[in-house]
Amino acid sequence: MKTELTDLWKGIVDLLTQYINEHNATVARQLATAMDQLLKSSSVEEFKQTGVTIRDAWIEYSQSIFSCEFRASGVSEISLSDAKKMIKYSLENAKGNTEDLIKMSHAAYDLCNKLQHDMNATFDMALQCISSSALCMGLIHLTMLHSELLVQRPYYKCPNCGSLKLETREHWEPDVDGAFKVNKLTCAECGWFYIEEMGGMSGVEG
Ligand SMILES: [Zn+2]
Repeated sequence: MKTELTDLWKGIVDLLTQYINEHNATVARQLATAMDQLLKSSSVEEFKQTGVTIRDAWIEYSQSIFSCEFRASGVSEISLSDAKKMIKYSLENAKGNTEDLIKMSHAAYDLCNKLQHDMNATFDMALQCISSSALCMGLIHLTMLHSELLVQRPYYKCPNCGSLKLETREHWEPDVDGAFKVNKLTCAECGWFYIEEMGGMSGVEG
């Protein structure tokens, strides 16, 4: 029975890893490695190692969805190893119920830290660590794709006023043939905008 259940969870993690691999091959490799090693593990030290590997995967993953260099002026610098903050800022502007996904992801990340220091770490805890992290990463990616954040969200806060209310709007830019449609990231609070397609042109609407 135990083997069957392990196979079931390995199958689930494998599917999630394949999905994540479409977007981030490094993270997918870390997840696959953690799973392979766990299946050969039998000691507390080895179970703890799962926490270390998955924690690294979270840091790699959160860096791939968050652009630290575009943080708003006045916002304190975010450490590139602070996965929880990067996840929070990246998801805060996404569509849907991201509040709970942020909580789930933070819990999955906390489990990595707990596991890597737990002198009583078990196989089941390590499996829970890999499974919950892979699931959360898959859900974050789905959310980001549905919000089109991965392609057009270089800012998570308005650099002019610090508001989180940034919206992507359609904008018609006139040219010799009439006009062409571009995406315009606009602050609903102060009218600041950013047009990515036009070489990062930005300003504040009058
Ligand atoms: Zn603003």
